[in-house]
Amino acid sequence: MNATGARILELLDSRVLPAWYNVREARFYACHGMFGFPPGGSFAAKIIKRLESYPARAGYTVSAPVIPVAVPAPKAPEARTYTATAPAIQARGMYRLNGEIYKVVDNPRTGRFAAHKLDMETRKYTYAKGIIYKLTEAHRLDTSTIAAHGLDQLWCLCCGRALDRKDSQERGIGPICADKYGF
Ligand SMILES: [Zn+2]
Repeated sequence: MNATGARILELLDSRVLPAWYNVREARFYACHGMFGFPPGGSFAAKIIKRLESYPARAGYTVSAPVIPVAVPAPKAPEARTYTATAPAIQARGMYRLNGEIYKVVDNPRTGRFAAHKLDMETRKYTYAKGIIYKLTEAHRLDTSTIAAHGLDQLWCLCCGRALDRKDSQERGIGPICADKYGF
């Protein structure tokens, strides 16, 4: 029960109510906080005002505590995350953000960059919506990091294909991707 409900119950007990008044229903609503929805709404205030207009019951000694009807705090504007209108990165390539590897390529449809996320298990990339706006040049993987990956995993970080040649392994990128992405 909320404060509004408590006040209404108090008034139901302490006032002489007209015969038509549905005390049972009012009690039920008050107990279940239904007068308080929305809290301090005009409906609850109206009920309280009307109950207060009825004469006090004779012999009712407990002074009803005056519980003010809670006024709802103004709602704070919903938190929204705004994304930059243009990517902060300057070139396609390999990036790492929050432990995930992303490949940034041209999006032929929009003519802008698009980020694709690497699944380390399947070595496949899938388009990662919105990530492009979170990546900055600071997230770019340098060549030595990509090389270390190649020597360790023996597959191209760009496309997931196995790297057979030593020079490719030392670069971490296969010859096709090296051509394509300029590594
Ligand atoms: Zn590749």
